[in-house]
Amino acid sequence: MKYFFVSLMLLLAAAAQAEVKVVTSLPDLADLARRVGGDRVVVDYIVRGDQNPHALEVKPSYMMKLRSAKLFLIVGMDLELWAQQIVDGSRNDALRVVDLSRRVHKLEVPARVDASQGDVHRLGNPHYWLDPRNVRIMVEDIASALSGISPSDEQYFRANADAYLRQVEQKIVEWEQTMRPFAGRQVIKFHKSWSYLAAWLGLTVADQVEPKPGIAPSPGHTVELIAQVRKAGIKVIIVEPFYDASAAEQIARATGAAVLRLPTSSGVAGEAPDYIGLMEHTITALAGALK
Ligand SMILES: [Zn+2]
Repeated sequence: MKYFFVSLMLLLAAAAQAEVKVVTSLPDLADLARRVGGDRVVVDYIVRGDQNPHALEVKPSYMMKLRSAKLFLIVGMDLELWAQQIVDGSRNDALRVVDLSRRVHKLEVPARVDASQGDVHRLGNPHYWLDPRNVRIMVEDIASALSGISPSDEQYFRANADAYLRQVEQKIVEWEQTMRPFAGRQVIKFHKSWSYLAAWLGLTVADQVEPKPGIAPSPGHTVELIAQVRKAGIKVIIVEPFYDASAAEQIARATGAAVLRLPTSSGVAGEAPDYIGLMEHTITALAGALK
């Protein structure tokens, strides 16, 4: 009996040791890391689903989260302009940072890096996680990164990744069916968060309430948008939860269009419990508003 308990304790200690601590920038990446890592990982994230990932105020607690982590997964393309600061502040020499954008087909990449794409999209549009077809690249790269840290678990990570991707791919077929009647329809966004989603679903983005990414709405641009919405009969203005909706509401009042508040990340108050839930919510809300 005594030996049994000793070996049980040793086994538990080994299991605790084998758990890889992963930190991600967004809750969406945390969900994907959990799907792939299963019970071999503990996962935490930095940005809450209702926070603007472009404008995060760095706190010492973020550095603490990274201090004991083995892996830090980021969206990349300068979405997390604050990432280097918290990596440096963590003083964790063993930390691996993996940029999940490396193999993604990128949209809105400027011919040269300057302010022509606004303040926050200098390397192109980083919101690629909102096209679920990019999940395959992200999940495969997460499986590779975890396998690099824990090679004996590679089969386990690959099997988890395949099972999750089958689930996502089945949902993609359903979402495409739901949205097929609305292909070619025009929408207005606040920020360029949904460029990848629009490209996937064949929606046309007529304009943004922000004149450029990271640049606040101006009265002149709002007046132009009112004319544009009236002329094209645009029904939907999509606004992220963390932006001021007053300019969008002004356009809506003047035109009869609807303001649709859509989260861009999971983990938002019941609406989007995980990545699939986020996309489900997005598609249901969009289809409802475009009807
Ligand atoms: Zn952005």
